[in-house]
Amino acid sequence: MKGFQYVRARSVAGAIEALAAPDAKLLAGGTTLYDLMKLRVETPAVVVDIQRLKELNYIDTSRPRELVFGSGARMSDVADNPLIKRDYPALSESLWRAASQQLRNMATLGGNLLQRTRCGYFRGGAPFPCNKREPGSGCAAIDGIDRGHALFGGSASCIATYPGDLAVALVAFDAVVDVVGPGGRRTVPVSELHREPGDTPHIDHVLRRDEIIVAVRVPRTTAGRGSTYLKIRDRESYAFALTSAATGLTLARGGVVEDCRIALGGVGTRPIRATRAEESLVGKRVTEATARAAGELAFAGAKPGHHNAFRVELGIRTVADALVIAKKRAL
Ligand SMILES: Cc1cc2nc3c(=O)[nH]c(=O)nc-3n(C[C@H](O)[C@H](O)[C@H](O)COP(=O)(O)OP(=O)(O)OC[C@H]3O[C@@H](n4cnc5c(N)ncnc54)[C@H](O)[C@@H]3O)c2cc1C
Ligand code: SF4
Repeated sequence: MKGFQYVRARSVAGAIEALAAPDAKLLAGGTTLYDLMKLRVETPAVVVDIQRLKELNYIDTSRPRELVFGSGARMSDVADNPLIKRDYPALSESLWRAASQQLRNMATLGGNLLQRTRCGYFRGGAPFPCNKREPGSGCAAIDGIDRGHALFGGSASCIATYPGDLAVALVAFDAVVDVVGPGGRRTVPVSELHREPGDTPHIDHVLRRDEIIVAVRVPRTTAGRGSTYLKIRDRESYAFALTSAATGLTLARGGVVEDCRIALGGVGTRPIRATRAEESLVGKRVTEATARAAGELAFAGAKPGHHNAFRVELGIRTVADALVIAKKRAL
C-alpha cells in the first residue's frame, strides 16, 4: 500500500475542506477503500475519515412522506430496523443479502453506494489491460472471461458490472441522495448517480471528488410493503449477485396491479429500472405467466458476451419469482 496522510474529520464542513487537498479520498467504513488501496487501484495522498461523524449516522423513520438515512448509517443497523423490515422489506433484504455480518457492521450506506466494480481484471491489474484502472490501456474482459460482466450498458471500453445491492432497491423506489460540497447542497436521484462507462469508464459516478453524500431519502409508498429483493448468486452468502431484482407492488381490489416497481441488479453497468416491464403489469393480475412475461420484457435488450448468456434466462426467472413474492406480501 502506498503511504498516505490520515485526517480525521470533526464535521461534514471539515471533511469538505480536507477534500480540497489534491488526491484526497473519503473513508467511511473502509471495507472497500482499504482493499482497493492494498491492490493499488486507489492511491490517495490523503484519506479523510468520516466514520465517527454522528451527524451522518442516523435512521429517521418519523417523517410521513419519506424514510431518511444518514450516509454514515451502518448497513446492519438499517437492515435490522423493525420498521424498515415491515414497511420496506426490499430495502432491508438488499442490505442483509450483501457481504457478511462483519462487513455490514462496519460498512455504511454511502460507501455501499459508491463501491467500485468487482471485475477481476480491474482488481488484479497487470498484465491485464483495464480502461477503468488505467484509462486508454484496453479492456481484458471483452475478449476474456466475462461470466460476471454486464448484459446492459456496456461499451467498447468497458463491460464491468455495478456490484452493489442497495442501489438497486433504491432505484426501484425513486430514492435520492443529498450531497454537500463546496458549492452547497444538491439532490441526486439514485437512478442518476452511477454512470454508464462510455469511453470514460474510469469515472463511476456523477459526484465531484469533493462532494459528500450526507443522506439517502426514500419516498414512502404502499409498494414498499409489498416488496422484495431477490438475489441469485453462486453461493447463498458472501457473494455478489449473478442476477438480482427489487420488486414492489400495490394491488387494488381483486389483486389487480395499481403500481409496479422493478429494478435489476448484477446485470448492468449500473442499476436498471425496468419501466416497460413495470407498465406491462399495471391493470393485470400477477400470475406465473404475466410475471414471466414481465421478466422477458425486462431482459429484452440484453447483450450477452461469450460466457454470460446463461444470466439472461436466470434474470428473467429472478424477476418473475420476485414478482410472485412481492404479490404475496402486497395482498
Ligand atoms: C468480501 C466482500 C463481499 C462483499 N459483498 C457485497 C455484496 O454482496 N453486495 C454489496 O452490495 N456489497 C458487497 N460488498 C461491498 C461492501 O458492501 C462495501 O465494501 C461497503 O458497503 C462499503 O462501505 P464502507 O462504508 O466500508 O465504504 P468505504 O470503503 O469507506 O468507501 C467506499 C467508497 O465510497 C466513498 N465514500 C464513502 N462514504 C462516502 C460518502 N458519504 N460520500 C461520498 N463518498 C463516500 C469512499 O471514498 C470510497 O471511494 C462486499 C465487500 C467485501 C469486502
Ligand atoms: S470490464 Fe471494465 S473494469 Fe473490467 S477489464 Fe474491462 S475496462 Fe476494466
